[in-house]
Amino acid sequence: MTFTHRHLLGIEHLRPEEIVTLLDRAEDYVDLNRAAEKHGDALAGLTQINMFFENSTRTQASFELAGKRLGADVMNMAMQASSITKGETLIDTAMTLNAMHPDLLVVRHPHSGAVDLLAQKVNCAVLNAGDGRHEHPTQALLDALTIRRAKGRLHRLSIAICGDIAHSRVARSNIILLGKMENRIRLIGPPTLMPSGISEFGVEVFDDMARGLEDVDVVMMLRLQRERMDGGFIPSEREYYHRFGLDADKLAHAKPDAIVMHPGPMNRGVEIDGTLADDINRSVIQDQVEMGVAVRMAAMDLLARNLRDVRGAA
Ligand code: ASP
Repeated sequence: MTFTHRHLLGIEHLRPEEIVTLLDRAEDYVDLNRAAEKHGDALAGLTQINMFFENSTRTQASFELAGKRLGADVMNMAMQASSITKGETLIDTAMTLNAMHPDLLVVRHPHSGAVDLLAQKVNCAVLNAGDGRHEHPTQALLDALTIRRAKGRLHRLSIAICGDIAHSRVARSNIILLGKMENRIRLIGPPTLMPSGISEFGVEVFDDMARGLEDVDVVMMLRLQRERMDGGFIPSEREYYHRFGLDADKLAHAKPDAIVMHPGPMNRGVEIDGTLADDINRSVIQDQVEMGVAVRMAAMDLLARNLRDVRGAA
């Protein structure tokens, strides 16, 4: 099997063939999730703990459902971001967790790198559910599966990622994944929301939607991440929507069959027009949510196999 990792911490650690293995496995789970009986046993007997130090609705629900559908005992631990500002506390958390013998640990944390640190201290498989501005690997994988199903391939596509790139772990994981699969990536947004040194990632940068969207196959919108902004990055939300909000007029610059994506939660009327977001002929936003459960089932299935192999060999 071409997926030999102990943890899923970021897309940066995955090879293209591992990404394909994971997406192929997720396809099986799409079918299972659409069946009347939705139970598998890949995680039977295993304990999954979800630790979210930052708010989450869909990602936490998606991981919970994924674990339950595969037979794991799933527990959600409510964590307050304020209670773990010190590295030492995170290590204490790891010690507490080790004593509970989890097999899969799903972690979201406001600090980049915190999930990696935790992974070094616990005796189980760790899945990064988003760490600061760093990575959100299952989001990029579910986006990849959505694109592959809509476009019939995941290479040589022209993909625009638009909006608040600077604060977005979703953008970072997607840039890495889509780059590894040899797509052409365009980033569109105001210069204040573009990370410095981004062109080293082999992307094209635009500050004009009409030019940036020209003939793209995929338009990925991002939320304005106000909680990560500490100053005036944009003049006003109205002005932002006018220049960078996706509506039918701006989308007309993309290919006629271009799809529209958004990781959620959406700010309707800020980064995207609400009617367009709901247009099932263009928007695949609901498909992204559906693919999310399947991708998380696949990721936990593959990691659990590796965990069992390691434990069996010990
Ligand atoms: N839900 C995604 C994340 O956790 C995107 C967002 O919050 O805008 O990064």
